[in-house]
Amino acid sequence: MMLGTVVLQPQGHICLRGVSKSYDGDTYIVRDLDLDIEKGEFLTLLGPSGSGKTTTLMMLAGFEFPTSGSIDFDGEAMQDRPPEKRDIGMVFQSYALFPHMSVAENVGYSLRVRGVAKAELDRRVRDALAMVQLEQFANRKPSALSGGQQQRVALARALVFEPRLVLMDEPLGALDKKLREDLQLEIRHIADKLDLTVVYVTHDQSEALTMSDRIAIFNDGKIQQIGNARDIYAAPANRFVASFVGDNNCLCATVEAIDGDIVRARLTSGDIVSAIRTDHAREGAAATIAIRPESIRFAGGDLPGVVKGHVADVVYYGDQIRIHVELSGGARIVTKSAPGTLHASTEIGAPVFLTWDALQARALDARQAKQ
Ligand code: ADP
Ligand code: MG
Repeated sequence: MMLGTVVLQPQGHICLRGVSKSYDGDTYIVRDLDLDIEKGEFLTLLGPSGSGKTTTLMMLAGFEFPTSGSIDFDGEAMQDRPPEKRDIGMVFQSYALFPHMSVAENVGYSLRVRGVAKAELDRRVRDALAMVQLEQFANRKPSALSGGQQQRVALARALVFEPRLVLMDEPLGALDKKLREDLQLEIRHIADKLDLTVVYVTHDQSEALTMSDRIAIFNDGKIQQIGNARDIYAAPANRFVASFVGDNNCLCATVEAIDGDIVRARLTSGDIVSAIRTDHAREGAAATIAIRPESIRFAGGDLPGVVKGHVADVVYYGDQIRIHVELSGGARIVTKSAPGTLHASTEIGAPVFLTWDALQARALDARQAKQ
């Protein structure tokens, strides 16, 4: 909004422009990153190990500095400021609690450093501990708590001074599955309740899909796609995202024809399939057809447009059955069905005929993004 010559920035806005980072002056770990984070947003950086997530978080925190590019908070340049001048709360995988201090002293530490008066400090520590349901443990030492409880203390400690940005790097990585899932929900609820701006790093896609407002998919120091969980799952932008988020069959093909939004492509088996066109598809060019296992149906017979193959493997998971179908030439397609809905032979070697709705498949770039 313009008022005379004054531009009003939305409060709490974080803006990265052209941010690159090289530790050795030679290889770039983060490459020309542009990213906007809104106040109150829960943004997750998701990607394989080594893709530059932690380096990006460290530059937001001020423990690392960009080789080039800018980082603004509310229009104020941050990229050269030390961490203590950025007003940021952090939670890491290792809890990094002070072992000689009680839980309450740990949580109150940042307030004490800031010179907050005792009565106010005690009140805020009590509130923060209540938020993570640890009031009754205020006087214990961290070593007398479980891993999940210690991580809740770390969370309370990061939030007690109401930072304008909370950074979390694989905070639940050391916990077992059930506890991790409980804490995912708890962190998300607290973030909503306090209207926190959170940048959360994980390599666990289900964690990213369940917690985030938006997910930035990292690979090779670059954001491959950014969007909400549904968009990224339903409409992966490239082959890397298609194979990294959820399960996808990524089939090599050649584009035969383009008809509006639909591509017809020939698989290496010779079968012709249909898929949604993306801007990579060119007539006569190679493409990847991405189709999710749950989107594939079994056809009754060798009808026009089906993909022909035979059963190569049957894997039973309890809540689903996966049939691996081998096509002529050796390519494989994995299907996924709920038990009781499976209308196909599960005998190894039996012929099967596969089909899908063209709108469930995507014709993507042919090359595998560098991993
Ligand atoms: P992620 O968090 O996605 O696993 P990181 O940002 O930690 O990725 O690391 C990306 C790459 O940068 C890795 O190859 C790692 O070895 C390298 N790296 C990270 N920190 C440093 C550092 N302080 N000095 C040199 N190289 C580093
Ligand atoms: Mg990391």
